[in-house]
Amino acid sequence: MTAVNPETEFAPMARPSPHQARPELRDLTLAELEAAVNQCGERSFRARQIMAWLWKRGADSFAAMHDLPAALRATLAARFTIGTPEVAYAARATDGTRKLLLALADGERIESVIIPAGDRVTLCVSSQAGCAMGCEFCATARMGLRRNLGAGEILGQIVAARRYLDPGETLTNYVFMGMGEPLANYSRLGPALAAMTAAWGMGVSPRRITVSTVGLVPAMERLLADFEVNLAVSLHATTDAVRDRIAPINRRFPLAELIGACARLPLKRRRRITFEYVMLAGVNDGDDDARRLVRMLAPIRAKVNLIMFNPFAGASFAPSSRARVEGFQAILHQGNLTATIRESRGRDIAAACGQLYAERAEAGAATNSGSARA
Ligand code: SAH
Repeated sequence: MTAVNPETEFAPMARPSPHQARPELRDLTLAELEAAVNQCGERSFRARQIMAWLWKRGADSFAAMHDLPAALRATLAARFTIGTPEVAYAARATDGTRKLLLALADGERIESVIIPAGDRVTLCVSSQAGCAMGCEFCATARMGLRRNLGAGEILGQIVAARRYLDPGETLTNYVFMGMGEPLANYSRLGPALAAMTAAWGMGVSPRRITVSTVGLVPAMERLLADFEVNLAVSLHATTDAVRDRIAPINRRFPLAELIGACARLPLKRRRRITFEYVMLAGVNDGDDDARRLVRMLAPIRAKVNLIMFNPFAGASFAPSSRARVEGFQAILHQGNLTATIRESRGRDIAAACGQLYAERAEAGAATNSGSARA
């Protein structure tokens, strides 16, 4: 496969359909919304009022924004739509994990996963429909890239997920580990992160947000210059030969370049970069890999997240045994490298990493029966 050029956002956006001829209000930045309300002859503070309705109070119509002047509401309603991804299907795993299959305005489908753990409730967010990165062990890669999500569609997943929380539950953490490569869609990820973290938006602390990337070096640097979010890098290999094969973007940003860039990233005090490492039996899980990983990450404030591989139909890998994963972890620990093992969540509803695509066709069939909260 040819390596993709991550700096070119070649993916088309949603095709405008007759019912979506007006631009999406949720895509607007604060400055754009201020300009829009000014054009309606209103003062700029109205934009913050509208943002509060969208992101704090979960409004999805202009009619709901009852403290706005009626004339402003009418003019905006004529110019913009407010869409919230529709939950086409929802499934709940025995461990409380909830997978939401969301239908976008043009019919594309993406998934978001609510993951409760202790006093945290994490939302796993998608950044693209499909993905162009072509990682061999990832089911989403099989879809190819369908299209980029707009900022409003990224944020809309949060709005939709809030409606699937249990009583008393609130979302506390956000991980961009759903479908897609967030840094290949930075021009929409950036505005979405701005609305998530700003006081006028959701007011989420950037410390509670993790952006996971396959390693698009220039965008990684830009992300950390723009936002104080956590960075997770999907590493998965300790040699270029193996990484070229399982994560083809490595041909464009080989290990030395990726690791060098990570070492130079300006990290806040006490922050570390997480390196994700999917354990593939006989491919990347040897003792020599573990020792190379220790050496490779020595110059970096790093922690490692060892991920159990979730097989899917047609996958050409097998998961490493639990004993192998623990043996690998022990070598990292001996090398003073913090390493945790990521337990798979939501396995019984195929919500675990890499499984978000596998059931897509099946879930499509379930759409007609409406939301099913299993
Ligand atoms: N494109 C981004 C984010 C999406 S993937 C990235 O590459 O980081 C989120 C995490 O799930 C990545 O670490 C990815 O490598 C991992 N993953 C993908 N498929 C998997 C599978 N079948 N089993 C376990 N983890 C998988």
